[in-house]
Amino acid sequence: MTNQRLTTSWGAPVGDNQNSMTAGHRGPTLIQDVHLLEKLAHFNRERIPERVVHAKGGGAFGTFKVTNDMSKYTKAKLFNGVGKETDMFIRFSTVAGELGAADTQRDPRGFAVKFYTEEGNYDLVGNNTPVFFIRDAIKFPDFIHTQKRDPRTHLKNPNSVWDFWSLSPEALHQVTILMSDRGIPATWRHMHGFGSHTFKWVNAEGQAVWVKYHFKTNQGIKNLDNATAEQIAGVNPDYHTEDLFNAIENGDFPSWTLYVQIMPIEDANTYRYDAFDVTKVWSQKDYPLIEVGTMTLNRNPENYFAEVEQATFTPGSFVPGIEASPDKLLQGRLFAYGDAHRYRVGANHNQLPVNSPKCPVHHHQRDGFMATGDNGGRSMYYEPNSFGGPFEDPSAKQTPFEVTGEAAQVSYDSEDHYSQAGDLYRLLSEDERTRLVANIVGSMMPVQYEEIKRRQIEHFYKADPEYGTRIAEGLGLSVELKVTEEV
Ligand code: NDP
Repeated sequence: MTNQRLTTSWGAPVGDNQNSMTAGHRGPTLIQDVHLLEKLAHFNRERIPERVVHAKGGGAFGTFKVTNDMSKYTKAKLFNGVGKETDMFIRFSTVAGELGAADTQRDPRGFAVKFYTEEGNYDLVGNNTPVFFIRDAIKFPDFIHTQKRDPRTHLKNPNSVWDFWSLSPEALHQVTILMSDRGIPATWRHMHGFGSHTFKWVNAEGQAVWVKYHFKTNQGIKNLDNATAEQIAGVNPDYHTEDLFNAIENGDFPSWTLYVQIMPIEDANTYRYDAFDVTKVWSQKDYPLIEVGTMTLNRNPENYFAEVEQATFTPGSFVPGIEASPDKLLQGRLFAYGDAHRYRVGANHNQLPVNSPKCPVHHHQRDGFMATGDNGGRSMYYEPNSFGGPFEDPSAKQTPFEVTGEAAQVSYDSEDHYSQAGDLYRLLSEDERTRLVANIVGSMMPVQYEEIKRRQIEHFYKADPEYGTRIAEGLGLSVELKVTEEV
């Protein structure tokens, strides 16, 4: 590293960075030492609000390369033409823990990808799981409250966790995945990623299909058992962060193969599950995986804060050829993510280098805190106008779609919450089932209210009687289950 002259943030040389200016040798300190004032004041402002979820994470840059042309289904340039390469950035994270939390906690992992395409940034803000705990954004703040700290004790509260899940049976599928071996990946490199929601792809002729994304790890699935994960959490809470950094630094570039499931638009009206319910998967027997391309991570960020902490992702960051579906959780996220970043990083977060599109950007947004660059200079700042400048492009309009029915707050209570959780239980080996049951029993044991445990056991039982019975037995509640014919 070459030596440079130390300056203040306003660029003036600093004469002494070790001794503050004092009145006499023993002080007091003089307020005219403006370098000292600036240094202390900026230090006080080093932190920005941590993400309310997905606070702890790490990231890397890489490339996405198309291996199977998708132009039949989408005009999105990043998926068109075999060999097409697009730069990308990914951020992995846990969900519930704070910024300093241990990487090896049992939790879903964030798997948020930003593709820097020539028609804007496409953010695929996914997780390492194909489903989620809830399917309506209105439940999200309550759900996350149960995953965070109790307001009185400031401790995690298993009563709240299992109370909420037992009263939200749609969570059962995701709870089963979370409590299975895949609930603690060995590293971020050894887990799959999923877009989870259903999205819409539109081709150049305006024809649309529904799509789900699956990133399959090329490193193979590897997980940690509870004891190992807890031991690592104590010794090296940054284990996953370190693993990814070191792998890339050593030239061992991790990669994932991207597959999609494609559903014809009309099928969503008749499919045996609600195709937009994020607590459900589409069976791969009904909609097989189609290969799209390979994502390879090959470059570490130069500065964690600039490029990882300030990275902002929103599922609403679409590009031509990719649109939203009616998925109710997705619809809520379309608002919540951008809003979180406007609060956390600022209204001009897209101007920061890691978030900034690599294609030309012309819009009429002006001003706001931390407007960097030329703020649009003298260019046109409204539309319509008579003087030129950026104009809308009708070819980039979203495809029209039909909506029917009454506007209402519709409950899902009568829906099937159980069969896919049961399918997962039934595809596990006996060893995997044993560990799943042990993980759940260990997690539910501290719950102080038998009513909560019984309510939750009913859900497991409805997914598969063996599943429920084994958990009941593990909790010493094998008798008096109130499970009825509706099973
Ligand atoms: P399939 O047999 O066609 O697919 C099973 C899926 O389960 C594969 O994606 C497989 O992924 C995954 N899987 C295998 N072992 C495990 C495990 N121990 N933990 C989590 N996932 C695992 O069946 P269906 O598509 O009909 O789905 C059956 C059940 O599989 C679903 O109810 C769901 O719980 C689960 N699943 C389904 C997915 C989907 O998109 N359809 C995705 C992931 C899970 P892999 O090849 O990596 O092992």
